Amino acid sequence: MKGFAMLCIGKTGWIETKKPVAGPYDAIVRPLAVSPCTSDIHTVFEGALGERNNMVLGHEAVGEVVEVGSEVKDFKSGDRVIVPAITPDWRSMEAQRGFSQHSNGMLAGWKFSNFKDGTFGEFFHVNDADMNLAFLPPEISLENAVMITDMVTTGFHGAELANIKLGSTVAVIGIGAVGLMAVAGAKLLGAGRIIAVGTRPVSVEAAKFYGATDIVSYKDGDLAEQILKLTEEQGVDSVVVAGGKPNILETAVKITKPGGSIGNINYYGAGEFLTIPRIEWGCGMSHKNICGGLTPGGRLRMERLIDLVKYNRVDPSKLVTHVFKGFDNMEKALLMMKSKGKDVIKPVVLID
Ligand code: NDP
Ligand code: ZN
Repeated sequence: MKGFAMLCIGKTGWIETKKPVAGPYDAIVRPLAVSPCTSDIHTVFEGALGERNNMVLGHEAVGEVVEVGSEVKDFKSGDRVIVPAITPDWRSMEAQRGFSQHSNGMLAGWKFSNFKDGTFGEFFHVNDADMNLAFLPPEISLENAVMITDMVTTGFHGAELANIKLGSTVAVIGIGAVGLMAVAGAKLLGAGRIIAVGTRPVSVEAAKFYGATDIVSYKDGDLAEQILKLTEEQGVDSVVVAGGKPNILETAVKITKPGGSIGNINYYGAGEFLTIPRIEWGCGMSHKNICGGLTPGGRLRMERLIDLVKYNRVDPSKLVTHVFKGFDNMEKALLMMKSKGKDVIKPVVLID
């Protein structure tokens, strides 16, 4: 089969590779819609995961099941499914502890385009199909469905990690697709004021749509100073970090109130250390929480997010700025995610 792959750090291209085989609990899926992620860009062009050779890219897909293993009970060939970017090993101690993302090793629930071929192939393999696939309801479009697999779950996870309380003030740093869903998640969790940070006009407009009450440009001067000024030097209760370079965590600590929470979903693709400002972290005693997390995957998470879309609690359609038809457009879509022009949030490739 054909797949669009990372050939080595810095290089992508089409490869011919073996069609995957389903073990007893697994499924083989043919993609119907896929989307490149900013994480694919970190992986290929920054070498964030280290070297990977001839690995099919992609972890965002909805598709049609073409084969299931002998022990799969709920899914069969022909079913249309939403496939989470993260497909944990549910029979693991980490999953029992509530951190399925790290099942059998830190970040090891992230398998597509990390430990195995991703979703940008003619077919891809899904482990533990009954626990990781979710049925695609006919009323949800392919474009919206593919946003659920990663952008919605990740942005919402940022909001969850930031411990948002009813009426509280939240800053969302970064309003690409992930940050936009953090804005939407913050609103759903009951935030009062939501300060969104970003500049691309298409994102700024979408941030307002999803519930941002204030927009701040990190290009207009020191970001921490701007947000502190906006909040009369009080800072915010919660911060979601969904963009920025490694030093953005310093800003997050500076703008968080004592006892507040920082939910980081940003993927730091380069550098050895992340730094915390000593004074603003109360010399170590500020009760400012920092928690960074890989997005949750699995069937239950997907089914809950599907309901949020199905019952009109969130409309992911504003994230999809470009739709391509045909597998051959994979490269164009990936490069669009790399160059990220002013009008781009997310491209989706529909595959017939
Ligand atoms: P985008 O590149 O689309 O968005 C990044 C946002 O950050 C933009 O709004 C950008 O502003 C803003 N930004 C850029 N530089 C700065 C800065 N110096 N200070 C403040 N804001 C800045 O990314 P995505 O939304 O696609 O993804 C966000 C992050 O989430 C990525 O690192 C991605 O890899 C990661 N991710 C993590 C996952 C997880 O499981 N934790 C899953 C999926 C993605 P502007 O408007 O100017 O462009
Ligand atoms: Zn991703």
